[in-house]
Amino acid sequence: MSKIAVVGTGYVGLVSGAILSDFGHTVTCVDVNENKISDLKKGIIPIYEPGLETIVQKNHYYKRLDFTTDIQHAVENNDVIFIAVGTPPADDGSADLQFVLSVAQSIGTYMNGYKVIVDKSTVPVGTGQKVKDMINSTLLEREVEYPFDVVSNPEFLREGSAVQDFTHPDRVVIGAESQRAFEIMKEVYRVLYLNETPLVETNIETAEMIKYAANAFLAMKITFINEIANVCEKVGADVQKVAKAMGQDGRISPKFLHAGPGYGGSCFPKDTMALAKIAQDYGETISLIETTVKANERQKMKMVDKIVNAMGDIEGKTLAILGITFKPNTDDMRDAPSLVILPELAKRGAKFKVYDPEGLKEGIWRLEGIKESITWSENTYEAIENTDATVILTEWNEFRTLDLDKVRDLNGGRFFFDLRNIYNKNVMLDEGFKYYGVGV
Ligand code: NAD
Repeated sequence: MSKIAVVGTGYVGLVSGAILSDFGHTVTCVDVNENKISDLKKGIIPIYEPGLETIVQKNHYYKRLDFTTDIQHAVENNDVIFIAVGTPPADDGSADLQFVLSVAQSIGTYMNGYKVIVDKSTVPVGTGQKVKDMINSTLLEREVEYPFDVVSNPEFLREGSAVQDFTHPDRVVIGAESQRAFEIMKEVYRVLYLNETPLVETNIETAEMIKYAANAFLAMKITFINEIANVCEKVGADVQKVAKAMGQDGRISPKFLHAGPGYGGSCFPKDTMALAKIAQDYGETISLIETTVKANERQKMKMVDKIVNAMGDIEGKTLAILGITFKPNTDDMRDAPSLVILPELAKRGAKFKVYDPEGLKEGIWRLEGIKESITWSENTYEAIENTDATVILTEWNEFRTLDLDKVRDLNGGRFFFDLRNIYNKNVMLDEGFKYYGVGV
């Protein structure tokens, strides 16, 4: 059993900490956000993530999981310290490491014996060494010497299925420089190891690169099918069939081949930009990724054009917006396509009735700039009532089974923009809708 501190209690830190405690370890989750910590102590979960609440509450009850703002106590009393703070994009697109390095400095300040410092945040190649340098220089200032190991252990969980992903990963990547660190990490992931989850043991730099390469590839795959979809629309092909047949080729796989309004979320947009920047910093170019970033921005604007071209002048028209989070089963709206598409439509005079099962709280502040154009609705049909068009922006399950008769009655314009391709075009046309998908 390991004694673990997880510094940064966000989507990744909270999920990791909670599940590691469920594996039997003693875990202390640390955050600078006092409200978040005091809520967690009361069993209130700050994010929407299916299945997480029960795991947090259970392990907190059994005293395997605790929450604190006191990083000194957490560092002094634990042997393995995860860094899971944010690495948002800086102005030049690179990953901003200020939070990671500030945690590294705190670890150096409070270390009192051998520690394994595990970087779980997504960080550019070379960050492990920077963390090591920061800890070393802090120890030097303190005029003390303690042995420690830095490990890179990137996280591949997806929001919306984070619990399942963390407990059933395709692989666990561990980048380290000493056998002692590898053994300790194997103990941390013992439950998965026993279940024969592949462990990739490598050096720190390779582990850091694996995460960026994987995310950039997935972003590129989405962008690829989006661009194929755009051409499909022009040539009369159906991207759904194209993607399905492509995916049946085992070398390609059907995953991440769904055409839509562009990828969003807290990872792909920033990680693609950061990877392009890493390459540039070393005098290389990853042109595929640079193009992916630009094409993804274009895709969001294409959705705006799609709506405007179909409806004509949208000044004063009201659109029912179903879903604003970047994907279903999360309340996360970081870099969600809705944050570009809605303001662009608002500029052209559109009004919105918006419903999202979990995104309301985030949406209200993130769309503050166009609040005059938005009426927030409590359910799907309230959003659709008295509007000129229905726009599906996020494929929440409840939008997959709409009562089409009701939608037709409530929505005068009958325009139906299915930006996630969850309805069949022919069925929708037969039902009397002016249906527009992506690439169909
Ligand atoms: P987040 O913004 O949800 O959480 C970060 C947390 O760190 C916040 O609660 C913040 O208050 C806290 N924090 C900041 N500075 C701190 C400090 N000095 N001490 C203690 N706490 C501090 O971020 P996230 O989505 O969990 O992402 C964290 C990292 O994991 C990022 O590098 C991200 O790229 C990576 N990642 C995210 C996902 C995902 O789906 N969200 C998946 C894989 C990897």
